[in-house]
Amino acid sequence: MVKVAQCWDDGVTNDIRLIELLKKYHAKATFNLNPGLHEEKRQEPLWVPAGYADWSFKGFRCGKVGKAEMLSIYRGFQVASHCWRHENADAHPLPVFVKAATDAKHFLEDLFQQECPGFAWPCGIATPEAADALRDAGFAYGRMVTSTEHVEAYEHPMMLKPSCHVHDGVFYRRFAEAKARNGIFYFWGHSYEMLDSAGLWEQMERKLDFLSSDPEVEWVDVIDLVRPARNSGK
Ligand SMILES: [Zn+2]
Repeated sequence: MVKVAQCWDDGVTNDIRLIELLKKYHAKATFNLNPGLHEEKRQEPLWVPAGYADWSFKGFRCGKVGKAEMLSIYRGFQVASHCWRHENADAHPLPVFVKAATDAKHFLEDLFQQECPGFAWPCGIATPEAADALRDAGFAYGRMVTSTEHVEAYEHPMMLKPSCHVHDGVFYRRFAEAKARNGIFYFWGHSYEMLDSAGLWEQMERKLDFLSSDPEVEWVDVIDLVRPARNSGK
């Protein structure tokens, strides 16, 4: 058996299309959200026009899910804190950073009426001090962006490394290696990285189909990687 987990960052409108695929293939996933960056209504994505000066991904400005529709879109999946407004751990005094992380946690727990012990480090930036502070504040794990060949060998749950990014060339190899040792395969990404490209979305669907068709795959939530007894009632 191989445990497979995935998570997606930033609460962008491409998540809606991704969630349709996840449901089709009965795949679990965690979405890492920054509630302070969402408007009440949905912001649609756009290919940026000439003269556009703000950040975009390859010229595609990702849309943002509306706060009012967050619950209906992500219901049935895990949601986790990605800070209130995507604050980086090294850019703020520690108490300010911890508040940003826990404000998002509490907002999501109120909205979804479920425990939200997960965290994803904005921009993958973690510090040992912040890791200890977030653990003390009630978080169970923090996802980094640096990859590892052995997800299960983490030293500090607040420094949890994934197997790879969804578009990493080692995706299938890392999966095969995890399966060979009855281990964990954990990938992450941003759904906006699929743009509105038919080829990239088709590639994503092939990955989900490949994983869900494998009888040895057990989809798990990220929280199950650090709390393996969660589903066994222990
Ligand atoms: Zn992010």
